[in-house]
Amino acid sequence: MPCDRRIIVLGSTGSIGVNTLEVVTHLGALGHAHQIVGLAAGANVGRLAEQVMQYKPELVAIADESAAADWDSGVPALVGPDASAALVDQVARPGDLIVAAIVGAAGLEAVLTGIERGCDIALANKETLVAAGELVMPAVQRAGVSLLPVDSEHSAIFQCLQGAGRDRDQIKRIVLTASGGAFRGRRREEIADATVDEALAHPTWSMGRKITVDSATLANKALEVIEAHWLFGLDADRIDAIVHPQSIMHGFVEFTDGSVLAQAGPPDMRTPIQYALTYPERVEGCSKRLDWTELRELSFDQIDCEAFPIITQGWKVIREGGTAGAIFNAANEAAVEAFLSGSIRFGELSDIVLEACASLPATTVQGLEDVRSADEAARQWVQSRIAATAGA
Ligand code: NAD
Ligand code: MG
Repeated sequence: MPCDRRIIVLGSTGSIGVNTLEVVTHLGALGHAHQIVGLAAGANVGRLAEQVMQYKPELVAIADESAAADWDSGVPALVGPDASAALVDQVARPGDLIVAAIVGAAGLEAVLTGIERGCDIALANKETLVAAGELVMPAVQRAGVSLLPVDSEHSAIFQCLQGAGRDRDQIKRIVLTASGGAFRGRRREEIADATVDEALAHPTWSMGRKITVDSATLANKALEVIEAHWLFGLDADRIDAIVHPQSIMHGFVEFTDGSVLAQAGPPDMRTPIQYALTYPERVEGCSKRLDWTELRELSFDQIDCEAFPIITQGWKVIREGGTAGAIFNAANEAAVEAFLSGSIRFGELSDIVLEACASLPATTVQGLEDVRSADEAARQWVQSRIAATAGA
């Protein structure tokens, strides 16, 4: 059944954003008349201008003020750190779909605004749930909108749960797969001095820089464990993660009777993105198909928590609750930025994040202010820790 939704893409110039627009074009060729009504980006105004020419949105948002200085594409632009939330506020109508693909907690306000406007959310921006699941999930309930996972593992679990009913008691556990990132199979001391280029050389997925570093430390899987907790309403004991280097099987649901459903697909984000865009329908996809005769091996392995200690934070954050997620996420964002800019070594990244989480006590989340101040405190903690080490 062809559909014709109004879509806003937040983070349109990034890896998920570009893939989303490709899927929209592909669906258009199949006769679906999706309409891009808003685009939000950080600083890549060149790519944004090309997207404006092709998709003709009503309004755009540009977070970086200096990058926006010579914006003259003919479509008005909102500018500044709050521009993406303001774009949603001005453009979104009930029933629209917002693809949330901004990286980091910077995407949170726009997602909350979209939910309040009555929009469904296709969520790639996992950091919003990690930092503020306690605000996002009740808002989704209140507004009666759908929160559709884009992250491949969560799309897998979501797909395996279709038809399984809403009874969470029937789920024994879910398992998220992890490629293992750039340093799979390496020991902690071997990767302590790994370079940025080495950390960014992901074996199976092509993604933005932050999530690629998160994959190298396995912080990404910790974030995804927390994301799964919020999306599927499961406690920490019923969420597992396992290494699967081929990135073909994305997630498993084990039911109480011992039956296991799994979802497979090529490592191409256009498949889960398209499912979120056409849900609950399925139409012809645009990714390369799996050729099962060519797949020689599907292997699985335990996660090495000694080499990648940050992974344990996923379960800890769920158990602690409150602002623990905002603290973990912000400390990780700040430490990844420091690693990418050359201020800290790869080996220090996980230690700094874990120390920040251990040093900053989690408090309850009553509103956005609580999340914001926990986020700010964690970023400051990381800055001071790095400055103290550099000065020592
Ligand atoms: P990316 O760095 O390629 O793109 C990020 C996008 O957000 C860009 O368009 C950038 O301009 C924009 N942006 C950054 N800061 C902004 C701000 N303050 N305001 C407005 N826009 C801003 O990142 P990505 O790989 O596309 O990842 C996006 C999100 O999707 C992340 O949360 C990531 O964890 C998640 N995700 C990505 C993949 C993937 O395959 N890339 C897979 C699963 C989940
Ligand atoms: Mg993922």
